[in-house]
Amino acid sequence: MVTYLDHAASAPMRDEAIEAMLPYLRDQYANPSGSHRFARQARQAVDESRDRVASVLGCRPNDVVFTGCGTESDNMAITGAVQRLGGAAVCAAVEHHAVLEVVEHHGGIVVGVDAAGRVDLDDLAAQLEGRNVSIVSVMTVNNEVGSINDLEAVGRVARRHAPGALVHTDAVQAVCWLDLRDVTPHVDLMSLSAHKFGGPKGVGMLVENGGPKIDPLIIGGGQERERRSGTHNTAGIVAAAVALELADAERTAEIARVSVLRDRLVDGLQASLNGVHETLSRADKVAGSAHVCIEGIESESLLYLLDEADVCASAASACASGAMEPSHVLAAMGVPHERALGALRLTLGHTTTEADVERGIEVVVAAVDRLRQRSAQVAS
Ligand code: PLP
Repeated sequence: MVTYLDHAASAPMRDEAIEAMLPYLRDQYANPSGSHRFARQARQAVDESRDRVASVLGCRPNDVVFTGCGTESDNMAITGAVQRLGGAAVCAAVEHHAVLEVVEHHGGIVVGVDAAGRVDLDDLAAQLEGRNVSIVSVMTVNNEVGSINDLEAVGRVARRHAPGALVHTDAVQAVCWLDLRDVTPHVDLMSLSAHKFGGPKGVGMLVENGGPKIDPLIIGGGQERERRSGTHNTAGIVAAAVALELADAERTAEIARVSVLRDRLVDGLQASLNGVHETLSRADKVAGSAHVCIEGIESESLLYLLDEADVCASAASACASGAMEPSHVLAAMGVPHERALGALRLTLGHTTTEADVERGIEVVVAAVDRLRQRSAQVAS
C-alpha cells in the first residue's frame, strides 16, 4: 500500500474527471477543428469546458487558452511577452524552473525574496524603475515551501514602476488552496496545470486576462484563436474542467480538513525527532504543504529509505557534479546551506487520509533514526 505524500508533484486524478474523459477517448474522438457533425460535438465539449474553467477563474471564456502543460503556459507567457513587447523579463528568485530558466534565457532580471519566500516588493520596485520591462512574473503559491504571494501588491508595484509591463502569475500550485477569482483581476496572465488539481497530465491553461496580449509560442494550425496551435486534447480538457470545478467547490472544506492533517504530520515528526525545523510558519503557507529541514541527514538518503517503505515524498535538492546542491528556493530564502541539505517536502491533498499521515510519521521517524545511527557509526 503506497502512502502518497507528493500532491504538489502530481495529484491523483479525481474519479469524476476520469469518467468525464472516457467518452472522448472511446467514442467522440473527432478532431474539434473539423467541419463534420462529430467534430462540432467535440468542439462544443471544448467550448463548454472553457466556459466552466472561466467561471472558476473569474475571467472571460475567450481569455482561456488551453495548452499542453503548466511549463508550456509559463514559457508562452514569458517568451510571448518578450517577443511582443521587447523589454526585459523579471521574476522572483523562487520561481519554478519553467519560469526562472525562461527569464534567464532572455537575459532577464531575478528579484530577491524574504525569509518566507515571498517576493521582496522593495527590490521589485527598485529593479523595475527606469527599465523597459515586458513582463513581471511572480508565482501565486511556491511549489516547494508553499508560500503565498500577494498578487494585488505585485500588480500595484508593477503598474507604478513599469506601467507598460504585463503581470504574470504561475498559479499552478494555487488552485486547491486559493480562490483564483481573487487573483485574476490583478494579473494579465495566469498559468495553470490540470494534473496539480486532480485532472490529467498534459493539459495546461494560460489566461490572457482581457484578451490577447502576447505572441503565440506554437504556431501552425491556428487553434485557440491563433494563440496556441495544435489539435485539442478534447478528453483532457473536458476532464480538467471537471477537476477544476470540484477543487473549487471543495476548497473551503478541504483547507479545514487538510490543514489538521498537515499540522498532525509536522507535530508528529517534531515530537519524535530532534532537529526538525519547519521552513515556514503555518500561517504563511497553503494548507497542503509540510516542508521541514531535518538536521543530520541528507534528503537523497532519506528519500531512498522512504521509497523503500512505499512512502512517496520529495525534496528539491539536485545532485550537481557529485556535490549536493540545495534548492534554489531555500537558498533564496536564506536557509543555511547545511540545513537545506536535509530538506523534506511532504504535500497533502484530496486523497490524503489520517492513515497516510500516521504512516508517514512512522516511516520518516524510523528512516531518520536509521540514517543518524549510520552516520554516528561512521564517525566513531
Ligand atoms: N509551475 C509550478 C509552480 C509547478 O509546481 C509545476 C510543476 O511541478 C510547473 C509549473 C510545471 O507544470 P507541468 O508539470 O504541467 O509542466
